[in-house]
Amino acid sequence: MRAGIITTPYWWEAAPPAEAAPAEWQSRADVVIIGGGFTGFGAAIPLARAGLSVVIVEKDKIGAGASTRNGGITSGNLRHSYDHLAKKFGPEKAAKFYQEAHTARQDLINFISDEHIDCDLQLCGRFVGATKPHALANMQREAENLSKASGVAPILYDKAGVAAHIDSDKYCGGVWRDDIGGIHPAKLLAEMHRIAASAGVLVFTGVAVSSLRRIDAGADASFTVDTTKGPITAGHVITATNAYSDSGVPWLRRRLVPVISEMIATEELGENRVRSLMPSKSMYSESLQLGHYFRPSPDGKRILLGGRRMDADPAKAAERLRAGLVTILPDLADCAITHHWFGFVAFPFDQLPKLTVHDGVIYPAGYCGSGTVWARWLGQKAAQMVLADLAGSAAPRPKPARSVSSDSVFADLPFRSMPFYSGEPWFLTIAMRFYALKDKMADLKT
Ligand SMILES: Cc1cc2nc3c(=O)[nH]c(=O)nc-3n(C[C@H](O)[C@H](O)[C@H](O)COP(=O)(O)OP(=O)(O)OC[C@H]3O[C@@H](n4cnc5c(N)ncnc54)[C@H](O)[C@@H]3O)c2cc1C
Repeated sequence: MRAGIITTPYWWEAAPPAEAAPAEWQSRADVVIIGGGFTGFGAAIPLARAGLSVVIVEKDKIGAGASTRNGGITSGNLRHSYDHLAKKFGPEKAAKFYQEAHTARQDLINFISDEHIDCDLQLCGRFVGATKPHALANMQREAENLSKASGVAPILYDKAGVAAHIDSDKYCGGVWRDDIGGIHPAKLLAEMHRIAASAGVLVFTGVAVSSLRRIDAGADASFTVDTTKGPITAGHVITATNAYSDSGVPWLRRRLVPVISEMIATEELGENRVRSLMPSKSMYSESLQLGHYFRPSPDGKRILLGGRRMDADPAKAAERLRAGLVTILPDLADCAITHHWFGFVAFPFDQLPKLTVHDGVIYPAGYCGSGTVWARWLGQKAAQMVLADLAGSAAPRPKPARSVSSDSVFADLPFRSMPFYSGEPWFLTIAMRFYALKDKMADLKT
């Protein structure tokens, strides 16, 4: 608690991080998954349902990472425009990125509905506000490409149309699409934990992985996973640690840049006031590089807003977010902030999510701040890689994932590090200043 502000996520009031139920320690498993967030559980559920013995090793509590700290916006965003992807990979593959994003979003909604998960799912759409006409022109082009590639049909608004979504003068227009919505992320993760446990997944909390060793001890064990509770041998390993990757998973840590994303929650404003400010009660974001993302709380009584951290001092950081909220909704100049919290999001150097196999270990990671959809999806794809590997194996026990393939467009992307980079992003302040400058320059354009 800092001067009356609660510094844990608003979401934890309904679903705090949890210890796993006590279980007998396992010294071997078919699959070991490192990390208990959306990625880890996304992988664990299909594997356990396929009859494999699955162990999740989580160094903290379930939900201590980003999966219970996020905005709950099911964006499935890609950081790059279609034009950029088409230039880099060709139009066919660029379309595949968009198609997979669409399928992944829909898959999350189907999962929530099929498993009867109560996580405050809102199929409310998302509005992105354009701060300048050139941004609106880019949005129009992107919307046309998106529509061609994936069949999603975004609706463009001019300044007069913005009021249907938000009572703000900040935007000269915007784009709304109906395939993005909102969830209560901590409730979703708690439910994924419950479903995994009932499928037979063994979860150990407060146990950290300190190293991974390839052992190739015949057909029934390929890795030793060293943990603070003892070693486990496993046929397959999935590393689901994303932005929280530490020295226990050095290969991944060297390939991801952890960036702080932080959020505030307003005091209760009441449903009528929130509805008058956000008439469509959608999810929201902005056209800027370091723009805000925001939404009503699931009960419709508060507004939650997030952005990237620019100030090391938490009090200044909270004030900066509050000021950002007021630039969007000046009517909230006097409103109090009750919660301010942060977490880490992971960026690969090329800013594209990854599903990579290195030395037999599967690494779904690097969702660039849009993991509510991507983490579960690529965790699930990692599980499919294991199952495909086992299906192609003549051995009665799991073999290492050497040659596994996936139908995901993210599976064959290079996953590079930088010389002298070990996971400490010393260059981040410079990078954030660069993006802030880009936003300022864009603001000067008409
Ligand atoms: C403030 C904020 C707002 C966000 N808003 C959105 C949003 O609105 N929409 C969206 O799509 N995405 C959003 N995101 C991103 C999204 O939350 C993440 O991409 C996603 O939750 C990643 O899930 P994960 O399971 O891969 O990682 P995590 O949930 O971070 O889990 C990784 C786990 O690995 C564990 N771990 C690490 N090292 C070890 C080890 N050596 N041994 C054992 N365990 C280990 C950690 O303790 C952690 O629990 C936001 C993130 C933040 C922080």
